[in-house]
Amino acid sequence: MPCVPTVADEQFENVSCLFGCEKPLKQLSRKGQFNLPTYVCICTGCGLVFLNPRWKKERYEEFYKQEFSNYEPVDLDSSLKENLDDAPEAIQVWNRLKIFNIGSTQCILDMGCGAGSILKTLKARIPNSSLFAIEPQQAYQEYLKKKLSIEVVATDVDSKWYELYPNKFDLIIMRHVLEHFLNPIESLKKTVSTLSPNGLLYLAVPNMMNPGGSLRRYWFRAAHTFYFSETTLLQILSRAGLEQIAIQSEGRELWGVFKKGSEPLPLRSVYIEQMEAVRKAKIRYCLECFLSSLRFPIRLFNYMKCKVAKA
Ligand SMILES: [Zn+2]
Repeated sequence: MPCVPTVADEQFENVSCLFGCEKPLKQLSRKGQFNLPTYVCICTGCGLVFLNPRWKKERYEEFYKQEFSNYEPVDLDSSLKENLDDAPEAIQVWNRLKIFNIGSTQCILDMGCGAGSILKTLKARIPNSSLFAIEPQQAYQEYLKKKLSIEVVATDVDSKWYELYPNKFDLIIMRHVLEHFLNPIESLKKTVSTLSPNGLLYLAVPNMMNPGGSLRRYWFRAAHTFYFSETTLLQILSRAGLEQIAIQSEGRELWGVFKKGSEPLPLRSVYIEQMEAVRKAKIRYCLECFLSSLRFPIRLFNYMKCKVAKA
């Protein structure tokens, strides 16, 4: 089914499957969270889920600069408090990574670092480490530099930042950023060039094989250009020169630890499994809505029963 944007066509561009499949795309949604135009497609050849058409880079830049904070406000006061308290997501990253002998890690880069809570948590446990960040939000950039002494190496992942840091980083954190990238394989290749020979990459993304909530009103987002399953993620990482050390699905999230050195994995289609996961997610959400609609009548019934018993 063709995906044709209905609004502001000039802001959109068409893209093909990252793996070069020539099979048709099937549309899964035309809207996403906050009712933004979100044209989600699945490649019937390989099962990769991605936006097509999607906003052009200039439109995304404008979105992140001017609109994104309306949906996910930059709140430095609470971020500071989270930093001091060890934010739960930062502790989760540490707990997942600590078994990989990262105690003597020297240079740590967090891509999409936000207010720096993960870096601060890691620094508290690896005191000799030096901290680096890529962060597009200006409010966070100032805060990272002035308050946390973190070196901001770039504000745009698509810039040439990587040329200045060959083989530099012993640990790179990419927590819920890859799904925002316009060219994940190209951006990962650049990132891999900055990883030291024995360096590790920690990556976490939403798991498209286990989506939660309403697909149209919550899961699908204009800011999320790709939706990965374990298979499609590993195939993309291998094309960027990354090899799996560990990969795990936990709840709605897929996370793993990777190192340099893989040949591209042969393409394996997950189209059938992915469509089945989408079908189940829709049924699960309908069931959740139905059960929650029953809550009030059941409470009312119990209340009335109580009153009648007392009378
Ligand atoms: Zn494909």
